[in-house]
Order: sequence, then structure tokens, then C-alpha cells
Amino acid sequence: MNDEMMIIIGAGAAGLCAAIVRARVGQSVTLLEQNNKIGKKILVSGNGKCNIDNKYIHANRFHSQNPQFVEDILEGYDFEIVEKFFTSIGLELIEGKEGKMFPMSLQASSVVELLEYEAKRAGVQILRNCAVTNIDKVDNVFTLETTQGNKKCQQLVIASGSPAAPHLGGSNAGYAFATKMGHSLIPRHPSLVQLCSDESWVKGCAGVKVAGLAKLYANGEYISEKKGDLLFTNYGISGLAILDLSREASTRLASFDYCELNLDLMPELSKEKLTNLLLGRVREHSEKPLTLWLQGVLNKKLIPIILEQSKCKVRTEDALTRKEINKLVHAIKNLKLSISDTKGFKGAEVATGGIDTTGVNPHTMESKLVPNLYFIGEILDVDGDRGGFNFHFAWVTGLKAGVL
Ligand SMILES: Cc1cc2nc3c(=O)[nH]c(=O)nc-3n(C[C@H](O)[C@H](O)[C@H](O)COP(=O)(O)OP(=O)(O)OC[C@H]3O[C@@H](n4cnc5c(N)ncnc54)[C@H](O)[C@@H]3O)c2cc1C
Repeated sequence: MNDEMMIIIGAGAAGLCAAIVRARVGQSVTLLEQNNKIGKKILVSGNGKCNIDNKYIHANRFHSQNPQFVEDILEGYDFEIVEKFFTSIGLELIEGKEGKMFPMSLQASSVVELLEYEAKRAGVQILRNCAVTNIDKVDNVFTLETTQGNKKCQQLVIASGSPAAPHLGGSNAGYAFATKMGHSLIPRHPSLVQLCSDESWVKGCAGVKVAGLAKLYANGEYISEKKGDLLFTNYGISGLAILDLSREASTRLASFDYCELNLDLMPELSKEKLTNLLLGRVREHSEKPLTLWLQGVLNKKLIPIILEQSKCKVRTEDALTRKEINKLVHAIKNLKLSISDTKGFKGAEVATGGIDTTGVNPHTMESKLVPNLYFIGEILDVDGDRGGFNFHFAWVTGLKAGVL
């Protein structure tokens, strides 16, 4: 064994970044990846375009039990540092909406291929189909049991990510290694995940997408709200606004709180404007069925549930009174959907929680308990908002662990 040998468990965003930086300064680095491909999550990210980072990095876009750790990580490690790294491997970035950054090629595969090329050029050895099953440390030497035999090293980086998206390599393995080394864990929950509902009507609305506003309530208490796409599905609800609320919902559901969404299907129209619009559409002496009349403003799959929740008594257009219109407006702007669960780690983009960061040095990513052991990326108790923040955390922690 080379005394200076570093092994990194996991060839995802954080592991690849750390490997390149270390190997560039001449250290012998081996990356062990359980999958047959490296960077599987990078490849599918941003619908194949890879939302690689965000221009507007701020601590309030990250979540952790230890906010000071996030502040310390980000100090001096903003988007420009990440951009410099990608320029150094030959990747140009372009800006999308809300500061979201993408590779100029708009292809996630170009990110992985350039990372791999640079890793190899710098001398990193990459072993695919090599799952680490156990780790130990005796006399300053780490021994790793893997599906390709035992490996030894002096420095060990655990970059094995979270259990989110198991089909892409999501795994709990790193948590077991960390606890074996004396580290504690903050409870993990799926985040950036779809929400399930037991309400039967939702299946009938599957496929309907509206630009709405979703408010989350837990045990009747208002928690948070997000504007954006709401997509009804046969299991419940998805869409960008829902993914953005899912972190809170997931945590509350884990505490057995009763969670409910209050959906405004027409947030761009105030209550008054919608009332006036509907009032203006009522024609006397028209016996048009109310369901057909409502199709003039609403997706027809949503109409039965709006009529049910509004408790509207009339069935034809000409019978509508101001009172009945008020009930319809209230239902359209306050559609209630109880939430029973999330789609779990299988549907999640990230996990909340992870390794307790009080045991990790935010400047070097080294364990405060075990010298020469490092943790980087999503395995730590830090998760970010949608929009490139999760990759930012992976890249910058990878860069920090890579610096000698
Ligand atoms: C569908 C999807 C889309 C996403 N889109 C975005 C996006 O657009 N922007 C954004 O910022 N974030 C996005 N994310 C989140 C982002 O992918 C992760 O936060 C990021 O990849 C975390 O990087 P990481 O290196 O810590 O972990 P990972 O990228 O998960 O890498 C960990 C690696 O370790 C390997 N591994 C695990 N256990 C072992 C073991 N025992 N032995 C060997 N290898 C092991 C895994 O196979 C994996 O390759 C998305 C996630 C998903 C699932």
C-alpha cells in the first residue's frame, strides 16, 4: 500500500470532484463505485440537462440541524468557485431561470464525460461494480471489504450519498460506516418527492396539471406555501410546487401529523376577479348543465370535486345565485387534499438528515472523531432547495476535501 493512498467511496458528484482535486496535486486516489456507471444521478438530473448549480447561493437555501455548519461550508465557496472548477475541466455553463446554471451543451452526459476524462487524466483509478460492504480502521490504516476484495488506505472519503433514488445508486451504506466510526445520525426523510393521498377523487383527476398555489397545513397549522405546477396523479399529487413543499410534509408525516394541502387552482385571479368573471358568465334562461358551464373555465376532470367540495346545490347555469357562485369560488381557491404519505426514497431526489455535522470539520470535511476520515456530499445532514443547490453542496464539499 502506498502510504499516501486515498480511497473515495462513491463516484457521484462529490466523490468525482474530490478525486480530481486530490489527484491533480499528485496524490494516489482510487474511486470505488458500486454501479456499472459513474455519476448516475448527474446523468438524470434536470431532466437530462443537469441543473449543475445556482448563481445565487445563500445559506437560507440549505437545510440542516446545524445552520452554522452550512454558513461555514459556504463561506468563500459560492457559485464562482464551482464555475472555476468546471472551466478548468473544459465545461462551459449557461444561466437559466432563477439563477439555475446548466452545462452549455444542455446535456448531463457532457458533465459526467468531462469529469471522467479529467479524473483519468489526473491519474484517478476508478473501479466500477465495486461495492464497499464494510470498513474498519486499525493502526491508522483503513481496511475496506468490497465486492472486489479487500482494499487498504491511509485516507478514506465517504461520498456514498443518501438512500434517495435507489435505482440510481441511492444507499444507506455510508451511514452504517459512519456510525461504526462513532458518528451519529440525524433522522433521514425523503425530500423533493411526490405526495400520496388516500382520497378517491384524486385518481379521477390524474394527468391534470394547473399553475396553482399549494398551502401545506399540519394538524391544522399553516406551515408553508409554494406557487407553481400542480400535477394530479393516480397516487396523489406532484409538480414543482409540491416538490418544493415536500420537505416539510415528509418531516411532519414522519411525526404522524395530519397533513393537508389547500390548493388554489387559479392564484392569478383574486377572489373578487374570479367572482366577477363567473357572475359575468351567467346567462338567464340558459339551462346549460353546470358541469358544462364550468368547462368554460376549468379542466373537466376537476369539476366533480369542485362541485362536491363547494356543496353547490344547483345543476344548471341559470339557477346560479351569488351565494352559489361564492361557494364555487371558495372551492376553486381552497381545494382540500389530505396527504397520507410521500412516494418515499424511491421517488425522492434527495434525503433530509444524514450524518450529524457537529462531528465534521466544515473547512476540511475531516471527521472530528477519526483522523483521515472525510465525509462529503449528500450523506451529510444538509439538503438544499430545488434549483441546483444540492449539487452545489456536493461540489463544494468535494472541493474542500480535495484540497491538501
Ligand atoms: C432524479 C434526480 C434528479 C436530480 N436533479 C438535480 C438537479 O438538477 N440539481 C441538483 O442540484 N440536484 C439534483 N439532484 C440531487 C443530486 O443528484 C444529489 O444531491 C447529488 O448527486 C449528491 O451527490 P453525492 O456525490 O453526495 O451523492 P451521489 O451522487 O448519490 O453519489 C454517491 C455514489 O456512491 C455510490 N455508492 C453508494 N454506496 C456505495 C457503496 N457501498 N460502495 C460503492 N459505491 C457506493 C452510489 O452508487 C453513487 O454513485 C437530483 C437527484 C435525483 C435523484
